[in-house]
Parts: sequence; structure tokens; C-alpha cells
Amino acid sequence: MKNGKILVVGGAGYIGSHVVMELIKHGWDVVILDNFSTGNIRLVHPDACLVKGTLDDVNLLDQLFAEHKFSAVMHFAAFSQVAESVREPLRYYRNNISGTINLLEAMIRHSILYFIFSSTAAVYGDPECIPILETHPCRPSNPYGRTKLMIEHLLSDCDAAHGFRYMTLRYFNAAGADESGTIGEMHNPETHLIPIVLEAAAGLREHVYLYGTDYSTPDGTCIRDYIHVSDLAGAHLLALKTLLNNGKSNIYNVGNETGYSVKEVIEKAEEIVGKRIPVIETNRRPGDPATLIASSEKIRMELGWTPSYGSLDAMILTAWNWLAQSNRSNNAKSYQKRQA
Ligand code: UDP
Repeated sequence: MKNGKILVVGGAGYIGSHVVMELIKHGWDVVILDNFSTGNIRLVHPDACLVKGTLDDVNLLDQLFAEHKFSAVMHFAAFSQVAESVREPLRYYRNNISGTINLLEAMIRHSILYFIFSSTAAVYGDPECIPILETHPCRPSNPYGRTKLMIEHLLSDCDAAHGFRYMTLRYFNAAGADESGTIGEMHNPETHLIPIVLEAAAGLREHVYLYGTDYSTPDGTCIRDYIHVSDLAGAHLLALKTLLNNGKSNIYNVGNETGYSVKEVIEKAEEIVGKRIPVIETNRRPGDPATLIASSEKIRMELGWTPSYGSLDAMILTAWNWLAQSNRSNNAKSYQKRQA
């Protein structure tokens, strides 16, 4: 039996495509709105209805909301590279904030009042204490984080003014790929650690630059809380269900409460792929805090979220599997044959 219909804005992106997969698996109809600025047609689920377009196109939004009766909207469409946001802040503010305002206005015009928003650990900035609770002060240290925090404020104002209800999920470091190997991370350029490490392992790049070995962490490299993208997708389904049941707005961290250093990630990848990965140690990347680890107690207790792929092994293995299946790497493919 079908549940209803969800509009997924940015459903052709890395996280959006995994959420679409999960929604369809659980009986939801999905309409994807994506402008393919960073999304990829290979990540679009075959059973979703695809609309190519941007959030600038207010007429298109009105048409969409007039044509479909959506139960809720999920919003993943944003620029998300920290360094780029420092170089081009206005492009980030325009895209991330104006686009969201157009979307929210259209929703309110058409009386669609349930919204799931993809936010980020970057709203916290440099943490005062670890693990980071949702009540930790939000002092983002770059324009990207500020755009997300501004939208969080905007949502809370819409809640007060229009009876609009939202769930905000603050992601820590999304990693891995769907177990099927049919969708996964595909950024251009790639800036995230795990895909870069695996591309180096597969011979698709010469080496990995390790940004900073003088942080105040046990091995001197940054520590992050990696969360499997399918577990992240599961959190969206729970947030949706809860929102539609009790209709209260809320904010949740989504992380594993476990930190791995950059060196630990590289070592684990070497163990999994069975070869040395060339690394060049270099300067710190501007804006990288030493350690980011979530408290995910709130989402566990209130939504009953439990990760199924909490280990770093699972994240690296599924990402490696995706690299092989996406036909970009013969090395990854031959590794898989050896394992079979
Ligand atoms: N990192 C690195 N080399 C890379 C990419 C990332 O050393 O090629 C480091 C980065 O400085 C950070 C960690 O890996 O300490 C995670 O970075 P990523 O970009 O994956 O996620 P972020 O935490 O910035 O969202």
C-alpha cells in the first residue's frame, strides 16, 4: 500500500538519492526536483518521477504543488563545500538561502506544511565540548555553515508564523554507499576524505593529501564522526514518520558518537583494499576543527534511531563496492572478484 507522496528537492545528489531509495522501499511515491548542478542522473531512482528545474523558478514550484498533493517536502539541494563558500560567499547565500525561501513560500501558498531539512554539524563551528549536543552554541566558522544556520532560524520563524512544521537533521560526516552498489558518492570535484582515499587506492588519483598533522588529537590528524549514508537515510524516514504523527518541529544530530582520525581512516582503507595508499602530508585545510563528534542520544531516545552500519569497515567497504560498480575502477572490480 502506498503511503503518500514526497517532494525530494536535490534527490539526484549523494544523500538525497539514498533517502529516495529508502522512501521508495517503504512505499512512498517520490517526485524529485533537481537542477543537476551537483547531482547526477545515475543517482536518480528509476521509480521516482524526475523534474529538472531550479528553486529560482517560482512558476515551476507552483505548478508542482498544484499538480501533486505532497505529504511533505525534503530539501537536500544546497552547495556544501566549505572552502568554496569562503571564496564565493554570495553564490552560497543566494543559492542556499534564496532557493529555500522560494521553496518555503511555495509550500505555504499551497498549504503544505511539513518539511525535512538537511543541516550540518558545520552550524556548531569549533566545538567547546565533545560530544556535541544539539544545545551546543551554534557559531559556524564559514559561510556554508552560516547559510544552514540561517535556514534553521527561518524555519523556526515559519513555524511560529504559519504553523509550519519541520525536522532539521544536522549531519556529521556522511560516508559509504547503498549496499546494492547502485548509488554512492559522486562529487566533482571530490573533496571528501573516504572517496578520495579510495580513488587513490584504485589508481584514479596519485595520492591523498593529508591536511594537517599537528592538531591536538592523539595522532595529530583531525577526528570526525562518520555516519553511513543509509543510516542517515533511515533517520530521515523516522523524522518524517514522527513529523506526520505528532507534527512537532525538532532538531536532531545524526552521527555515530565515535570519532576516527584521518590517519585511522587511511589505515582502515589500506587494510580493506589490501594495499598501501600513497599519502602526502601537507598544511592544515582552513576552517577544519580538530575534532567533531556528535551526541546522537536525542535521536536515539526520541525517534528510536539505531545505526545498522556503524563501523568504519562498513562505510569503506560499501564505498569501495560503489567505486567498483560505478565502472570507474578496475582495481576495485578485481578486488571484488578476489573476495567473491
Ligand atoms: N581530509 C584530508 N585529505 C583530503 C580530504 C579531507 O586530509 O583529501 C581531511 C580533512 O581535512 C578533515 C577530514 O579529512 O580533517 C574530513 O574531511 P571531509 O572533507 O571528508 O569532511 P568535513 O569534515 O570537512 O566535512
